Amino acid sequence: MTIAEFYQIFGQVVLAAGILLLILLSVTLILGRMLIEKDRLVFPKLLLFTMDVFYGLFKKFSESMGVDGKIVDHIGVEVRNKVNEKHFKEIEPKDTILVLPHCLRHLECEAKLETSGLACKNCKRCVIGVLKEKGEKMGYTVFIIPGSTFLKKIIEQNKFKAVIGVACFQDLNLGMMKLSKFSCQGVPLLRDGCVSTKVDSRAVLDTMGVKLKEAKKLVPKSSCSEIPERRKSI
Ligand code: SF4
Repeated sequence: MTIAEFYQIFGQVVLAAGILLLILLSVTLILGRMLIEKDRLVFPKLLLFTMDVFYGLFKKFSESMGVDGKIVDHIGVEVRNKVNEKHFKEIEPKDTILVLPHCLRHLECEAKLETSGLACKNCKRCVIGVLKEKGEKMGYTVFIIPGSTFLKKIIEQNKFKAVIGVACFQDLNLGMMKLSKFSCQGVPLLRDGCVSTKVDSRAVLDTMGVKLKEAKKLVPKSSCSEIPERRKSI
């Protein structure tokens, strides 16, 4: 084989791989939108493969198609929630951790940040206190953390089989990716940011296994969204 022939074959292989990759990203985007908009999950393993292996590239591809790159994280969270749902429900609360972001805290929160996260005093000025109290009563171990370094510590220092996480779509998707050996369920924030974020607390309670009637008593209307935003498309 001459060098010219080698380069010709090499070029054809690269071109074929590029076309296959474009097809994979397009199919994943279509299936992901179908999942978000119609709640239909098709080829979950394919979706997870693209998400885990081509995360950054998939974001750029979505943006180049005129779709907000956030859809990638939205798809990731939805797929992981659906794939893990059945197994998650079989795991008891005592083997499950509930991880809440500290940005949900009230602006005048007096709780101190300790090595395992925020030491909430259950003053009930924000939804963290309500979720923590109910969660601990049910047997969940609750962590209120400011970032992924704390998540790493939690994984190293605790024994658990399942996780309920609350965070913005990106942190949730990346966190669930990191925790893929556990059964994870994610509830995305309704309003993200660094402070005064908002979550559908009834969606969190629902994931924890609290009946709607009790959840309605536990959380005031203002801290809930009537329509679960995680079902809305971006
Ligand atoms: S409930 Fe907990 S996190 Fe919320 S303001 Fe009170 S001490 Fe802070």
